[in-house]
Amino acid sequence: MPTEAPINNRPQDLNPLPAASVAPPEWLRALGAVKGLGGAALPPQLFLEAVEQAPLAISITDTRANILYANPAFERTTGYARQELIGQNESILSNRATPKEVYRQMWESLAQGRRWSGLLVNRHKDGSPYLAELDITPVLGPDGETSHFLGLHRDVSEVHQLTQGIRNQKALLERVMDAAPFALALLDLQGSAVLRNRGFHELEERIGQGRLIPAVLKGIEGFSGDDLAAARRRGETFSEQELVFDPGGSGEPYWFSCSGGWIEQADSRADHYFEAPGEQRLLLVINDISALKRQQERARRNAMRALMAEHEMSERIREALSGAMFQLQSNLNLAHAAAGMLERRGGQDPLRGVLVQLIDSGNRALDALRQGAPAEPGEPRGLLNLNQIVRDVLGLMTERMLAEGIEVEWSPEAVLPSIHGLQTGLRCAIKQLVANAIDAMSEPDARGRLLRVSTHTHGNRVLLRVQDQGPGIPEELRFRVFEPFFTAWSAPGKHTGVGLSAAREMFARHGGEIEIDPNGQEGCRVVVSLPLADGREAR
Ligand code: FAD
Repeated sequence: MPTEAPINNRPQDLNPLPAASVAPPEWLRALGAVKGLGGAALPPQLFLEAVEQAPLAISITDTRANILYANPAFERTTGYARQELIGQNESILSNRATPKEVYRQMWESLAQGRRWSGLLVNRHKDGSPYLAELDITPVLGPDGETSHFLGLHRDVSEVHQLTQGIRNQKALLERVMDAAPFALALLDLQGSAVLRNRGFHELEERIGQGRLIPAVLKGIEGFSGDDLAAARRRGETFSEQELVFDPGGSGEPYWFSCSGGWIEQADSRADHYFEAPGEQRLLLVINDISALKRQQERARRNAMRALMAEHEMSERIREALSGAMFQLQSNLNLAHAAAGMLERRGGQDPLRGVLVQLIDSGNRALDALRQGAPAEPGEPRGLLNLNQIVRDVLGLMTERMLAEGIEVEWSPEAVLPSIHGLQTGLRCAIKQLVANAIDAMSEPDARGRLLRVSTHTHGNRVLLRVQDQGPGIPEELRFRVFEPFFTAWSAPGKHTGVGLSAAREMFARHGGEIEIDPNGQEGCRVVVSLPLADGREAR
């Protein structure tokens, strides 16, 4: 423990420094000249002038904190003139708002000869408070004991106000962000979230950890989400873009409305102080609009059911008529052949006349049938989500599948790029594939009742797989099943054999293909491949 210097509180016993002509105090004079760099002698007066002119409030006290010296900056900071300060205790500055514990720790440190620094609530001479950042260093005498204290302090009220203001703003912003009814995240250029609000955490919990950001970055059309640095360079942003996220299984799909814009955040690292550009961040706002969309979906499904029923009805009529026309045309071909043969034999065979009449009336009947066939419903092409179409179909077939004890394993690619095409046409074609799969699993030699349906992207195409556990299609029939009127069901009566050929026709109209996968392990696996809208490469 350093021994205390004698307490000398009487101002006249102190050695105050005159304000105008500043003479070095005894202890400083005792130092003599100090050797500077290169051995040049630095006079004590220089040290005094340096302290006098320093912009920091400097005071020197005895070991009881009685002020022996205060520099002009101290006067400016406190509002007291030097004469008023000399001989006073530093407590003259106390605003009586600093907790006792702070002073206790301060004195405990100083008593042990250790430096102390901290914040105190002081007051100016006029009584106005200020926050002082104070640093006290014990000055050791020749005996190694504390003989004085050197106090350095500055008014940090403004810095404190600013810091506090920023803290308050941050707290407010966090509150507002957390209370916001949408998910918000700030992403760095690597796609990692550096900030997330509560809405984001909640949404991520619902759809699965780590799935939300990739889904959005991948799913926004026209945005280079896989290379954010490039997206930033090109200034790509998006506003209220809708995105469907399909978790698969029995979970309902989510609809998000997403907006993304760039902001620049200043880099707070000291070594980046003079570097102008800050960090580029993508501010992502995700609004979960699933509830609203589900309502719209219910209405849409009802309308879709009616539309499909109409589409299927005219499809069935067209199928029946084309079956009848096919039969009639075959018979007319025979009649033509027979009439031709009779003509070549020569003579006036009355049978030939009958045949010619038959052919005439047959052609008229054929024309009438052609004209009577319902026209294909005109439907505008648009951007479509294949997951949505498959979901619609599975929804429509649910009752039938439940009745037949069929279980569905639906594995969609979570975010599927759009295709371009005819919604009802594709829906009917896919419904045909699902209906075939159900029929196959009702065959006597079916192996099971599990229907597997999946989607995924491959290059610039979307693949749809429909796999059943029916008896499968033998190798030699893999291509024939797509021929019109071909049927290999055990109960062919209820099938016309045009379903697959009509489906193939529909996929072909979309630049797509359909095939029976020779590698399907059990049952039949139908694979449909359709081009992405604009031939876009899937990411
Ligand atoms: P108390 O804590 O009750 O103490 C009364 C006095 O007793 C003190 O002022 C001190 O002279 C003496 N004392 C108390 N404990 C000890 C001890 N362990 N050893 C020796 N003497 C002791 N305070 C401020 O509020 N603002 C300032 O800007 C400020 N600057 C200071 C600068 C220096 C260099 C030093 C050494 C102290 C400074 N203090 C300052 C502390 C100040 O001296 C008081 O301790 C403090 O203001 C509390 O006031 P108080 O009347 O409650 O004093």
